[in-house]
Amino acid sequence: MLREILLHLSQSSTARTLVTHAPFASTAARRFVAGERVEDGIRAARELNQQGLAVSLDYLGESVRNREAARAAADVVLRVLDRIAEEKLDANVSIKLTQMGQDIDEAFLHENVGRILDRAAAADIFVRFDMEGSAYTQRTLDFFRRLWSEGRRNIGVVIQAYLYRSEADIRALVELHARVRLCKGAYQEPPSVAFPEKRRVDENYVRLMRILLTEGNYPAIATHDEAMIRATRDFAAEKGIPTSAFEFQMLYGVRRDLQQQLVKNGYRVRVYVPFGEAWYPYLMRRLAERPANVLFMANAVLRESPLGALLGRGNGRR
Ligand SMILES: Cc1cc2nc3c(=O)[nH]c(=O)nc-3n(C[C@H](O)[C@H](O)[C@H](O)COP(=O)(O)OP(=O)(O)OC[C@H]3O[C@@H](n4cnc5c(N)ncnc54)[C@H](O)[C@@H]3O)c2cc1C
Repeated sequence: MLREILLHLSQSSTARTLVTHAPFASTAARRFVAGERVEDGIRAARELNQQGLAVSLDYLGESVRNREAARAAADVVLRVLDRIAEEKLDANVSIKLTQMGQDIDEAFLHENVGRILDRAAAADIFVRFDMEGSAYTQRTLDFFRRLWSEGRRNIGVVIQAYLYRSEADIRALVELHARVRLCKGAYQEPPSVAFPEKRRVDENYVRLMRILLTEGNYPAIATHDEAMIRATRDFAAEKGIPTSAFEFQMLYGVRRDLQQQLVKNGYRVRVYVPFGEAWYPYLMRRLAERPANVLFMANAVLRESPLGALLGRGNGRR
């Protein structure tokens, strides 16, 4: 129930205005977002690399409906690519197609994303297309396939285990030899397209993980769910699949203990590092995933607020 409310609020412009203008909200968001500037993302990437974690940098933004803003977003990604190359970071980028012009027109999207892919290819950097709500699934896969047929190979896509269609999509991507990130799915979807029960999503996740591990091209197993991680480790061990053949992926600020533990156990782990001013919908999806995060945020806001200070809880007094 709380999940539905939070996902609904993630799309509300009134709630966005209220939250993003609330004092201290952006400080509290820092748990899940590296900061607002490119250099905040680069700093986080550097620190994570030092801990043996690879990174995917995400310049936050989605549902952009004018060309100027979509071009400006792509320009920021170009800067990120340059900074990754300059600092020789173990990092790639993730982009959302609705931030790059998917809702404007396909020719524009192709040109705007093409600029990113050219720059990334020149620096040998991989670009992942995040997957958004189910209204975009087919268009995103079609666009991906178009780029693939044009010879682009530094690209990968995301498949969400909660969608009924995902097994067929994965089989088609495996045929292409394309790289897939498997996640459970973060959007509010109707039962006509997605499994409503967590148990069924998890079962599908394991089924899809197995296909990707045996037939896929360097899949990314993106989850914080220890049961999914255990299933992946067990399956890889049973089939003799080396740890270099896949990677785990987790979100910035989520289960940092597990990230470290997997690295210690010899697994490859990549952390998805979001940065930018448009953190509101991303943050709401993270809150929806774990109701305890709402309490965490409320506590952080309270601690930093004048009320928190009055109560003797602010500014490091405890
Ligand atoms: C690298 C990466 C990229 C992603 N890209 C996409 C994408 O392109 N499209 C998309 O739809 N979704 C994406 N997601 C989000 C994903 O779909 C899930 O919504 C999210 O990962 C939560 O699912 P879970 O597998 O961790 O399992 P869940 O069953 O949701 O959670 C399992 C356990 O993990 C922990 N956990 C999960 N989420 C959180 C959180 N936010 N804060 C604290 N603890 C948490 C909790 O302990 C929870 O009990 C991505 C996730 C990752 C890790």
